[in-house]
Amino acid sequence: MPWRFEILKSLLEFDSLGFQTVRDRRNFLQCVRTLYDVHTSGSGAVINLRVPTEPAREISVGCFPIGIDYDYVSNLAESREVHAEAARLQASLNGRTIILGVDRLDYTKGLPNKLEAFADALRRYPELRRRVTLVQHVVPSRLDIPDYHRLRQEIEQLISNINGEYTQAGWVPIHYMFHSLDQASLIAYYQMADIALITPLKDGMNLVAKEYCASQTTNDGVLILSEFAGAAAQLQSAALLVNPYNIQDVADSIYRAFEMSQKERKERMQRLRRIVKYHDVFHWADSFLASFTRRNVSHFPMVGDYIPREGQT
Ligand code: UDP
Repeated sequence: MPWRFEILKSLLEFDSLGFQTVRDRRNFLQCVRTLYDVHTSGSGAVINLRVPTEPAREISVGCFPIGIDYDYVSNLAESREVHAEAARLQASLNGRTIILGVDRLDYTKGLPNKLEAFADALRRYPELRRRVTLVQHVVPSRLDIPDYHRLRQEIEQLISNINGEYTQAGWVPIHYMFHSLDQASLIAYYQMADIALITPLKDGMNLVAKEYCASQTTNDGVLILSEFAGAAAQLQSAALLVNPYNIQDVADSIYRAFEMSQKERKERMQRLRRIVKYHDVFHWADSFLASFTRRNVSHFPMVGDYIPREGQT
């Protein structure tokens, strides 16, 4: 990164720094220890970093994963307006299994990999054809930058190829929309989707994953989540974690989610909703504020990294 010193110096101007995951914080600390003569002390939720300025300053470096306003999203998902919209959308898709994608147009979101994985699932699991629909919303972003414009073209070409190859009378595999949605419409999509397919190549947190869980008030959606999303650290016990570079692995997970029993779906989603509810945005604010005031933050337990195990899909 050409601006590494400028970025690190700017960050070191703050009194308190918060990172989404233990891994992000470890990377930051390793960087400053390597590039500057700084000392660190403490462990756990907050580490103190001594910057050798005149006079020396101490910075607290914490790990505070951002949350959502769970109650707000969950209550909106239960509203009559959202229910009606979700029912209308479901009916328009003929009761098929809905796989939902909601991503900003950005190379970190791994959209080409996701589309290839969906195509691979249709190719290797023909029973999915006519029975699943991928509803992919892409939110416009930075279109004035040529690379983003090219990414849009690449995505639209891939979608066109997949739909061209697999569409049958009465069924189009990918419903693609390039737009942004208001909150109520977005939550209606979250609510009616049977599977959320969230496969960024890198993401600080990914709030869409958490909003999907909060909206699944009937507890039967499946979350397929990239291990490279910050949210994976918190949601690893109940989401289907995938490596988005491994196209076959993602395709297999789509099939696994499609086949998953009602019982397993419910158990997993209940667990996910509990985690998202507990680590909501108010919990995030409280833990961050506690670190400013250097109060005891031990009652905000840290969530460890997701560590992939050999043989695990
Ligand atoms: N979002 C929205 N309208 C849309 C799509 C997304 O308001 O049409 C919101 C979504 O509710 C979420 C945010 O945009 O809160 C996306 O956050 P995330 O962390 O998932 O990704 P980012 O775009 O910040 O990388």
